[in-house]
Amino acid sequence: MIDNLPPVRGTLTLNRELAGLTWLRVGGPADVLFQPADADDLVGFLAKLDPGIPVFPMGVGSNLIVRDGGIRGVVIRLGRGFNDIEIDGNKVTAGAAALGAHVARKGAGAGLDLTFLRTIPGSIGGAVRMNAGCYGAYIADVFDSAQVVTRDGKLVTLSAKDLDFAYRQSTLPDGWVMIRATFVAPKGDPTKLAAMMDEQLAQRDATQPTKDRTAGSTFRNPAGFSSTGQADDVHTLKAWKVIEDAGLRGASLGGAQMNPKHPNFLTNTGNASAADLEKLGELVRKKVYESSGLRLIWEIMRVGETTPDKAKD
Ligand SMILES: Cc1cc2nc3c(=O)[nH]c(=O)nc-3n(C[C@H](O)[C@H](O)[C@H](O)COP(=O)(O)OP(=O)(O)OC[C@H]3O[C@@H](n4cnc5c(N)ncnc54)[C@H](O)[C@@H]3O)c2cc1C
Repeated sequence: MIDNLPPVRGTLTLNRELAGLTWLRVGGPADVLFQPADADDLVGFLAKLDPGIPVFPMGVGSNLIVRDGGIRGVVIRLGRGFNDIEIDGNKVTAGAAALGAHVARKGAGAGLDLTFLRTIPGSIGGAVRMNAGCYGAYIADVFDSAQVVTRDGKLVTLSAKDLDFAYRQSTLPDGWVMIRATFVAPKGDPTKLAAMMDEQLAQRDATQPTKDRTAGSTFRNPAGFSSTGQADDVHTLKAWKVIEDAGLRGASLGGAQMNPKHPNFLTNTGNASAADLEKLGELVRKKVYESSGLRLIWEIMRVGETTPDKAKD
């Protein structure tokens, strides 16, 4: 049990269930959920928090499996006070809690192309941390800088070099909380950008289970092979295809299923536990390895603790 928490102006909630804050709707409670009022509140809290207490920043939980035993320590979730969006020339600065979709729409209205963020359901903090991308564009292509509060409560500005972006990855240290990011966006015609976003939304709905409880792609697309002359980080091989080829489209375990519409979307069909989802994911990894020799890597972040009963095979 955590006591002696520093005083805050925002909200501290003990033993807060997290399932409802994630897209997959699974997982146990956080020891403490902190929703800071503003950046000063966050800085003051982290500066005074016992350094031994783990801190986990979450966005809107669209890329997370929170395990059934919940998360020990303090989970930080940014809300109002961190979702402003400002445009200055070709620069867009957005609070980490702003949704990528809102940033894309506001940018497009001002003739700036961040349209790839329109169909990714996460926050700006999550998008930068994950180097989110689709339709050939990634955060790394447009990233300028991010303001981050370190685990010991210092406000720092990070460049792309500091974050060392790679496919669906960056190197933000554990416990550091991003509060704002700035992007340099290519120019575009607002009407055309709006049409592009409509097209992308339609394409998503046609090919992906956008209304189901998922966390998007479960596994990263496997890297290509250098024997083809291509660099190892091209992802022409699709995770959904290798899962399909292993005969696992629609495979299920408990309430978890590899979605029949898109087999790389692990889905909570209604009553899945985090353990069901993780076990099915691991089973898929094992079977894909047996059938193709490929080792799938989780794209969904799995955090927190298992419960003894649900961890049993
Ligand atoms: C239907 C669907 C479609 C998707 N399609 C795509 C896609 O096309 N491309 C793609 O890249 N992703 C996709 N995703 C995955 C997901 O939307 C992205 O990874 C998104 O960027 C995660 O943002 P989030 O706010 O939900 O972060 P969360 O899932 O809450 O967290 C993800 C990671 O980001 C970290 N994080 C979040 N906020 C902060 C912060 N303020 N400071 C520090 N760290 C932070 C967390 O600690 C965690 O490590 C999809 C998901 C769904 C459900």
